[in-house]
Amino acid sequence: MNKPTTSSNAAGRVIIISGPSGSGKTTLHKALLEGPGLKGKLVKSISATTRPKRPGERQGKDYLFITPAMFESRIAKGYFLEWEKVFDHYYGTPKRQVLNLLKKGKHVLMCIDVKGARRIRKEFPNAASIFIKTPTMAILQNRLRQRASDPHESLQLRLNVAREELREAKHYDRVVVNGRLDKACRDLNAVVGQALGLDGG
Ligand code: 5GP
Repeated sequence: MNKPTTSSNAAGRVIIISGPSGSGKTTLHKALLEGPGLKGKLVKSISATTRPKRPGERQGKDYLFITPAMFESRIAKGYFLEWEKVFDHYYGTPKRQVLNLLKKGKHVLMCIDVKGARRIRKEFPNAASIFIKTPTMAILQNRLRQRASDPHESLQLRLNVAREELREAKHYDRVVVNGRLDKACRDLNAVVGQALGLDGG
């Protein structure tokens, strides 16, 4: 059993964002990090992953892309706060990076799957968690169809995983519905600002 590393005496707060593939969480979290009220205060934790880099992704910025052997050795060394296998690839949140940021008073944004989110909530009981979803399943399906990345990962698999993930939404502090992107951006900004006590400031 993992003893909570706890953030109780850390100045920063953990913000968790989850949502099914196709919910728009990547676009939304990037906009959030650049938002006027949060820029520089909220820093994304860079996960390690064994999945192949997609076009436009940068090593060390979007993810730390490493081999399965490296990932497994890091698991053994206790490098991760949590790790999961998602769509057959490893993903993990680096412990030292997160703790250092929190110690420096930065708020840390984690964009992780629902299982990882459960682990992080245990570890950081005062984390604020936000679930992003589309207004309907049909919209999610359309968005996934339009997305040409990861040709090997079938639409059906992503939809099945999405259904399972949606069941977890009730465990999150807030749900943001991503129908129109500009509205969802504003909603997410407001929710996070509120969680960090920055609203109105
Ligand atoms: P993608 O490959 O599309 O970037 O991410 C696939 C899924 O893995 C998404 O749900 C994403 O939030 C999740 N994910 C990314 N990094 C981590 C991590 O460090 N830990 C966990 N548990 N999930 C992650």
